[in-house]
Amino acid sequence: MTAPHGGTFELPGLREPAEIVVDRWGVPHIYARNTYDAFRAQGFNAARDRLFQIDLWHRRGLGQLAEVFGPTYVEQDRATRLFLYRGDMHRHTDVSQDFKYDGSLLEGYRYGIDAASFDYISLTDHQTGYDQEFTWWENQQLVDLFQVPGFFTPLFGSERSLRFPNGHRNTIFAHRGVRPLPIPPDEASAKVGAAKLYQYLKKNNGISMPHSSATDQGTDWRDNDPEVEPIVEIYQGYRNSYEYEGAPKAASALNPHAQKSGWQPQGFWWNALAKGYKLGVQASSDHWSTHISYACLLTDNFTKKHEHEGRDNA
Ligand SMILES: [Zn+2]
Repeated sequence: MTAPHGGTFELPGLREPAEIVVDRWGVPHIYARNTYDAFRAQGFNAARDRLFQIDLWHRRGLGQLAEVFGPTYVEQDRATRLFLYRGDMHRHTDVSQDFKYDGSLLEGYRYGIDAASFDYISLTDHQTGYDQEFTWWENQQLVDLFQVPGFFTPLFGSERSLRFPNGHRNTIFAHRGVRPLPIPPDEASAKVGAAKLYQYLKKNNGISMPHSSATDQGTDWRDNDPEVEPIVEIYQGYRNSYEYEGAPKAASALNPHAQKSGWQPQGFWWNALAKGYKLGVQASSDHWSTHISYACLLTDNFTKKHEHEGRDNA
């Protein structure tokens, strides 16, 4: 094969002689006697001119930069190797008795797997059925039953529903067997905050997530523990956005009635940021909305434990 500047190369696999002519603008022109040889010569030319670039892109795509550029690229390599998972962390069933036609627990899972093709779902009924042992047990059974390793990961979740200013929170535990923490009267009446909940989460390897934060179910951000409360739900398909006043799908002081379930502007997420809270965000459905709100997670291994860690990175 003829190369520019008169060079000649033996190229294994070439069926007949081919020629590469580089014109005065540096553009290669490839002449071959059959299509196969044209592609072969094109590959040879690309490798000769751009091998460094091809290798660099290849390594960047596979997360192998640190191998040649050293440890300062380890973090970038790690990020490259993460996987993206999609799901819903807050969805009710008829166990909640909200009479919003949420459907059964089984329908919740069939929605997650068949209709939405989620990687994970958390069916978060109020105290997994108002602290009844049977509905809690049923929830736990079904989380294990619908676990499909490598494909679908249900989570051990429930909702603690307190009114403003303590507010609604969902809790998720990394392992089976943790009953929801009952809501004592002094927490329901906001005489005390979330300290006991945070203790309980630490003891049992759980996390919590405020939601509906700028409504009567919301909070003035009196409490946060970054170790067990790393995330907030800023949008619900069933209701509104709680990102900031006047955000898309959120109400403002001019139309407070647009904020479904009450108007509590102190609960907008930006107020939490202003307090210095570091809260990641996610969106979910809550009640019966479909295909309009979900969250994506980046993680390297989707077990329940890793999902917790991934959420810290989300
Ligand atoms: Zn809810």
